[in-house]
Amino acid sequence: MCYAIPGKVIDINDAIITVDYFGERKKARNEFHELAEGDYVYAQGGFVVQKIPQDQALGILKGWEEFFFELKEIDLKLTDKPKNLYQVANSIRQKEMGNACCIHGIIEFSNYCSNDCLYCGIRNSNADIWRYRMSVDEIIESCEEAVGKFNFKALVLQSGEDPSYSEEDLASIITTIMNKTPALIILSIGERDIEVYRRLYSVGARGALIRFETSDSLLYKKLRPGHKLEERMGLIKELKSMGYLVFTGFLIGLPHHGQEDTLNDIKLAGSLNPDMFSFGPFIPHPDTPLKDTPKPSIDSVLTAIARTRIMYPESKILATTALETLDKDNGIRRAFLSGANSLMINLTPKKYRRLYDIYPDRADLDTEISEKIESMLELLRSIGRAPTDLGL
Ligand code: SAH
Repeated sequence: MCYAIPGKVIDINDAIITVDYFGERKKARNEFHELAEGDYVYAQGGFVVQKIPQDQALGILKGWEEFFFELKEIDLKLTDKPKNLYQVANSIRQKEMGNACCIHGIIEFSNYCSNDCLYCGIRNSNADIWRYRMSVDEIIESCEEAVGKFNFKALVLQSGEDPSYSEEDLASIITTIMNKTPALIILSIGERDIEVYRRLYSVGARGALIRFETSDSLLYKKLRPGHKLEERMGLIKELKSMGYLVFTGFLIGLPHHGQEDTLNDIKLAGSLNPDMFSFGPFIPHPDTPLKDTPKPSIDSVLTAIARTRIMYPESKILATTALETLDKDNGIRRAFLSGANSLMINLTPKKYRRLYDIYPDRADLDTEISEKIESMLELLRSIGRAPTDLGL
């Protein structure tokens, strides 16, 4: 099973195209490709990312045909007669969003960070970790492998706040990927000048993963020395208005924060009209000032997912790796059964993965990428989800 389904272009209205797959129709924005009706494309997050040859598309679709409807049946069965909060949220997800799921790859390309966030293991003043920085060529190679070998259509490029990558470096990475192996590129590089983000948009980046971390502005100031919540919020809003798909959210279980605070966080995230909610548990790191804060319970995270689904029925909600770290066997599955519908797979080269130590004991530090993909697809199959995030 491939983890994206090609769609057939059935209508073109300037930049907005209508795509059909197995009778379902979705719209997507086409900015980069010459298209005609009858062509086959892959779309992600509402953007056409790749045009593919008809024979290849038909081959993949054939493999999917029966399966596609089987998965829907499984999902329907699992959402029948909901009894508790999680099940209610999951059945709302089924009704509003169907069984589509998006899978993004994430490449963590540098753990250097000029910030000193109290919660984060790669904070500047943590002298106890090895620092690494992938070269421009290494980053491009990893992206090419992600798209060419592993078939990803959407890639998150994440790092600490590392100014040693110039605007030119970042632009050349994106330009090369868009030319050679186009994908939906999502930046997760923290606070850079808005003009840098504008330039990166102009060369093809279309997503920004940038959390506001907490809606409590006093706590924010304490946790992120030298930064203010309003500045972060201002940047997120500007990115959204520039056209970026915005993935945002917060940490659950920060010191002295409970359910009430999480509700405020959910509402603040919702007010940004995010293209994806990305929030997860805060996991204390032993080399940070917050090392003695207790971990939040998995239920507090599942409750937040379920509430977000109920409050924002048509949203995309990520099942995060941090949640998976809290429950390595079942965390992702439980998130999906509580309203989540998006997934990220870590594609950072193995030699660097362990060093991107934002929190301890992360899931999948040693797993081969191909094994991880297989196990995630297996999980999705078992709960009737299809990786068919076609768009708008
Ligand atoms: N420099 C980028 C990326 C930061 S790392 C930026 O500023 O946006 C990505 C995310 O990891 C952060 O937004 C934070 O929410 C999360 N994170 C950091 N430390 C964590 C911890 N101890 N537990 C769980 N998540 C953490």
